[in-house]
Amino acid sequence: MFKAIIIEKDEAGYRANLKDVDESQLPEGDVTVRVSHSTLNYKDGLAITGRGPVVRKFPMVPGIDLAGIVEESSNPAFKVGDAVLLNGWGVGEGHWGGLAQKARLKGDWLIPLPSQFTAQQAMAIGTAGYTAMLCVLALERHGVTPEHGEILVTGAAGGVGSVAVSILSKLGFTVVGVTGRPEESEYIKSLGATEVIDRSVFSTPGKPLARERWAGAVDVVGSHTLANVCASTKYRGVVTACGLAGGMDFPATVAPFILRGVSLVGIDSVMCPRADRLVAWQRLGVDLDLAKLNLITNEIGLAEAISTAGQLIDGKVRGRVIVNVNS
Ligand code: NDP
Repeated sequence: MFKAIIIEKDEAGYRANLKDVDESQLPEGDVTVRVSHSTLNYKDGLAITGRGPVVRKFPMVPGIDLAGIVEESSNPAFKVGDAVLLNGWGVGEGHWGGLAQKARLKGDWLIPLPSQFTAQQAMAIGTAGYTAMLCVLALERHGVTPEHGEILVTGAAGGVGSVAVSILSKLGFTVVGVTGRPEESEYIKSLGATEVIDRSVFSTPGKPLARERWAGAVDVVGSHTLANVCASTKYRGVVTACGLAGGMDFPATVAPFILRGVSLVGIDSVMCPRADRLVAWQRLGVDLDLAKLNLITNEIGLAEAISTAGQLIDGKVRGRVIVNVNS
């Protein structure tokens, strides 16, 4: 038996509970992992609370990421005792995920735990941090350098935002954070932002083109915020869009793209090819200051993940939440 958060949906309603599960109930897969840590990402919050249509099969174990030790493997790439890491691939949505003491997975989804990190540190980064790195890599791929000017990071007190601010500042960029929580301004500055702007500046309908300011941006919010970020991005600047914390819509015009040559780059971490994941995790090992990772992180136990999920979706959680599945 092992402990897991189980999401069920039936006549009795949508609910998440901590349960004891028999190992025979684990889904198919060629690698069984003894999970040590998972995390709470925005998507996990939606899954646990049922506030977004994330779960595609019931019963489901949520948890879109995990770190642990291989316990059984018929996959030639992994042997018993290997330390591994997983992000995405629909795990925690359509296949039982990481908010459990055990997981059975396709070995092709796993990557070796990078040697720079403990399992706990890798989960402090988690899918949110790996997505932040994918955004930074996209800015670099499109030629944005610190000399081009300021980089805007929205949702800066959240998981993706906190890690993005930390990485970009370590790389020498001038970073401006956006937050709806002015009380977190000092926290965002401690991660490396030089200025923090209130969310309300971006969250209402704006003009098709605004004063050019940003050389690049990492946006986790979507909706009017993303439209206003594009409208205020400098000639040939680059906006990476990875989130929908403020809405799924994109009420924008084409003006920034056709008059200023702004590029809008979509970022997906879930189906991202393995080679790109390995690069992102290798770069996290180099470009993320581990002292800052400590500032970003809180650790909770498996049972607490259920109550914390609602707080996360309400935008009340700062930084990243590690879930120690054995406490
Ligand atoms: P968090 O909840 O940790 O952070 C989201 C932050 O967004 C909040 O902390 C808050 O920051 C801000 N925010 C919340 N609600 C609103 C709102 N209504 N309007 C404006 N800002 C808001 O989530 P994550 O960092 O884990 O994820 C952020 C987004 O990125 C989510 O939408 C998530 O689904 C997406 N995501 C996408 C991935 C991909 O593969 N494309 C992978 C990982 C995440 P503040 O308090 O500073 O304003």
